[in-house]
Amino acid sequence: MTDIIRTHYINQLDESIIDQNVKIGGWVEDLRDIGSLLFLTVRDVSGTAQIIVNEPKMLESTKKITRQSAVMIIGNVQKSKSKAFNVEIKAEHIEVITNAVHPLPVDPTGRVNASIDVRLGVRALDLRNPRVLALFRIRHEALQSIRKTLVIHNFIEVNTPKIIGSASEGGANLFSLEYFGKKAYLAQSPQLYKEQLTMSLDRVFEIASYYRAEKFHTVRHLNEFISIDIEGAFMDTEDVIQVAEQIVRNVLIDIKEKCVNELKQITAEIIIPSLPFERLTYSQVLDEINSHDIKLEFGEDLPDHALRIVGEKHKGYYFIKDWPSKLKPFYIHEKNDNPELSDSFDLQHGYLELASGGKRHYNTNKLKTRLIEQGLNPDDFKDHLKVFEWGMLPHSGWGIGFDRLLMVICNTSNIREVVLYPRDAERLNP
Ligand code: ATP
Repeated sequence: MTDIIRTHYINQLDESIIDQNVKIGGWVEDLRDIGSLLFLTVRDVSGTAQIIVNEPKMLESTKKITRQSAVMIIGNVQKSKSKAFNVEIKAEHIEVITNAVHPLPVDPTGRVNASIDVRLGVRALDLRNPRVLALFRIRHEALQSIRKTLVIHNFIEVNTPKIIGSASEGGANLFSLEYFGKKAYLAQSPQLYKEQLTMSLDRVFEIASYYRAEKFHTVRHLNEFISIDIEGAFMDTEDVIQVAEQIVRNVLIDIKEKCVNELKQITAEIIIPSLPFERLTYSQVLDEINSHDIKLEFGEDLPDHALRIVGEKHKGYYFIKDWPSKLKPFYIHEKNDNPELSDSFDLQHGYLELASGGKRHYNTNKLKTRLIEQGLNPDDFKDHLKVFEWGMLPHSGWGIGFDRLLMVICNTSNIREVVLYPRDAERLNP
């Protein structure tokens, strides 16, 4: 058999094609030998099929097939007596395409548990586990949904460089690399580019990888992560907050509708939150934290243990607005009625920060002052500042950590579960 074109995906085998000859392709999940009869369970991306082998001349060779080997099967569809399958295939020809060499490093049927570390080391095989596959189907649907919502809101998708010549936000924690004799960095966010683009493209969004060179040891940080970023001209903080909450709600609605089986696989339930999400201020949150055995001063960042207290009380999605200006980057605008406070917000789910955003400065002098206040040198940002002298428009935006959003949707406690090939301080391969 040289032709590798199949006639059906496994989930297309049903009673409407009984007696028809079909050709399927997949891998052997199970093999049961009951003497004169062999039962094979074959899986493809769409599901599992039962294959019956009773031709004496096929029995011996089929018995030798190892689990997970890739096979193509030609046979006749017939009604099944099994409770698990409506129809099965009576095999006429079985060809092993490639052999799975045993022992395999993990059992992708999930019957034998393996640690996440071991599984990530053999991710391609781990993905044959239906539970793992379900996570990445949900991930795919979430991306489609987010793009759809952003396009409805007139955002256009852009791609900005990830190899950059200067530290974009002045922060430390950048990976550097040698770029034809010059020093370059991996982008930590598209912040400055997306702001610049609003002066011509008005509303932009980007979905891409960003890099942070910090030795995180948490279940919610990676060194490479996907961020969904938006930036819109003539939008204020409340406008972009509303885009964020619609994105989250639409993603949940779409996944609940399109990923029924996948949600069952991962035993996750989706509850559609009503809009608007709760809006708290930094000061309110500080009061809530300080009513426990923690004492935080105004102006301090909210550490993990403090956010866990807030997350206990506010279990779903909510915003924390009006952060102290000094906690926010130089490009964040202050509130018109109180310069101590920034016109900014974080989107939270329980203790977990999902997004941060706000209104941006669009006046060059203000930007220069803010850079100096934050100990940064405006000369290092001269290319960026120049743009603000060409008729920059007022604008606001945010960045949502897509992998973190998926953790919440899929109810996983470790970000690595929802990332194909996570990069952390210990893991650079595969
Ligand atoms: P955190 O305080 O949780 O470290 P941050 O304040 O550094 O996050 P931002 O720079 O504001 O995060 O980035 C916006 C969003 O991008 C975050 O809310 C988060 O969802 C996501 N994000 C940031 N850093 C990481 C990371 N290292 N791994 C995964 N997601 C990240």
